[in-house]
Amino acid sequence: MSETITPKKKNILGYSLSQLEEEMVSYGQKPFRARQLYEWIYVKKVYDFSLMSDISKSFRETLDRDYYFSLPSIFKEQDAKDGTIKLLLEMEDGAKVETVLMRYDYGNVICVSSEVGCSMACEFCASGLLRKERGLTSAEMVGEVLVMNDLLSKEMERVTHIVVMGTGEPFDNYDNVLTFVKIANEQRGLAIGARHITVSTCGLVEGIKKYANEGLQINLAISLHAPNDEIRRKIMPIARRYSIDELLSAVKYYIEVAGRRVTFEYIMIKDLNDTLECADELASRLRGILSYVNLIPFNPVKEKPFERSDKETIKAFSMRLNSRGINCTVRKEFGTDIDAACGQLRVKYQTKKKK
Ligand code: SAH
Repeated sequence: MSETITPKKKNILGYSLSQLEEEMVSYGQKPFRARQLYEWIYVKKVYDFSLMSDISKSFRETLDRDYYFSLPSIFKEQDAKDGTIKLLLEMEDGAKVETVLMRYDYGNVICVSSEVGCSMACEFCASGLLRKERGLTSAEMVGEVLVMNDLLSKEMERVTHIVVMGTGEPFDNYDNVLTFVKIANEQRGLAIGARHITVSTCGLVEGIKKYANEGLQINLAISLHAPNDEIRRKIMPIARRYSIDELLSAVKYYIEVAGRRVTFEYIMIKDLNDTLECADELASRLRGILSYVNLIPFNPVKEKPFERSDKETIKAFSMRLNSRGINCTVRKEFGTDIDAACGQLRVKYQTKKKK
């Protein structure tokens, strides 16, 4: 007896332009159908196939049979005095992720989550308190931006920059993240310039090499957080898999192939990695690598034992790096009156729910 298999409908927001062109060709359509669809979705913001008047009625019905639109819904919203918006978004299956919008003078930066929870278990991070449940699909990450754009449209603004620095390890969900950044970067898609998109990794060496070979102009940030393996292994389990030497040689490969400068993120944690000796060691490690260091004052997480370094210590550390020829900046803080640290809003809600 033969079984009829009903093909599952697919969320149309998850396709890069070239993937959508291939889909259209598989229906015997011209590739430009994909461009028309992008125009309806991303420019006109029409999420209903039946309204797409330049596509034949019968093909609109086919699209409606095989595809659907799904955006995350806003489960919780926190607005800070400085304009920071933090959203807890709910996906189709009930999974919840955080998305944050920060207002810099150069633009509106969205911090996108790439996974539901995280399995990297960095000691200082709230995201890792909740185990990884799954990676987000490219459609869900696009959804994070579309929902934020929708909120911003009320003030005639839009997302201008993306950092994939929310919950999750982007290179642990490589393919979906790559498709997402392509949709983000597409002129007819979310229209965000490659140089305005940054993917941040805790240091998955294979992922960095693969990313180098993609030929994209998208920025790469590395969560280094320590000048040597000994300290790094205390706070980042990934450091037991790859040494700093291995990590830096992958970074050098990226710089060589992509021709791009890399950002090293370095959280300043009191009495752990913030001495001037650490600054000296970091400076000699990074000498000659086309990069700059972004010092991040540790954002206290109630479940974690760490404290942030004093302001003066951070200042002295950054001056020491500068005097050794390493460019560095101290990260500006946002939304200090809301649950600002990565993953905190979600942790707060998910743990409350369990009680
Ligand atoms: N997994 C990726 C991206 C998500 S984390 C990565 O590790 O890069 C984004 C950045 O926030 C990382 O640099 C991370 O180390 C940092 N971060 C995590 N918890 C933090 C905290 N409590 N205070 C300050 N920065 C934190």
